[in-house]
Amino acid sequence: MGKNFKDAVDFHRHLCLDIAIGYRAAQILVREMGDELKNMKEVVALVGNTTCALDAIQEITGCTFGKKNLILTDLGKPVYILQNTKTGNSVRAYCRYWDTFDHTEFRALRKAVKKPDATSEEKEKLEKLTKGTIEEILAAPEVDLFRVTRLVLPAPKIAGKYPASPCDQCREHVDEVLLNEADGKTLCKECLEAKAA
Ligand SMILES: [Zn+2]
Ligand SMILES: [Zn+2]
Repeated sequence: MGKNFKDAVDFHRHLCLDIAIGYRAAQILVREMGDELKNMKEVVALVGNTTCALDAIQEITGCTFGKKNLILTDLGKPVYILQNTKTGNSVRAYCRYWDTFDHTEFRALRKAVKKPDATSEEKEKLEKLTKGTIEEILAAPEVDLFRVTRLVLPAPKIAGKYPASPCDQCREHVDEVLLNEADGKTLCKECLEAKAA
């Protein structure tokens, strides 16, 4: 792998708290998976939500949305998993750092710097707070940042590896695993949502 924090920030194109969280998560997952990552064609990353952390996960693990080996599980929580789909062996990291994180000062400063009359003092204060917190995240003991567990998971269904069929409404071809049955019709997600609206 050999990618460092700077690589993750360069890929993401800005410095923020979540890119540091994603970097630490990816480092832990890669280290804990060890030999399970020998053949990256067998590896997927499963992510529970979409935040800046994902760019670090993509850059450090090499699993990307484009390659279909980064899968959004939409759990609505910061859960990052690396899985060997052949053995099922997986490592899961839940980011517990945010559970007790005090966002008050950040929120107030972010709000302040967005105003047209924002002072350079406020901007500097936010920058300093951001940098300080990133340093804290990068140096924190792993146990303060994540709950790490090992588990065995069934191989995920990966869209795009299955045949496509036309939607009964728009006739556009859709990945079969993503077609929906409604009133005796087979519909794509767009047509299903339009019908419900
Ligand atoms: Zn970011
Ligand atoms: Zn359709």
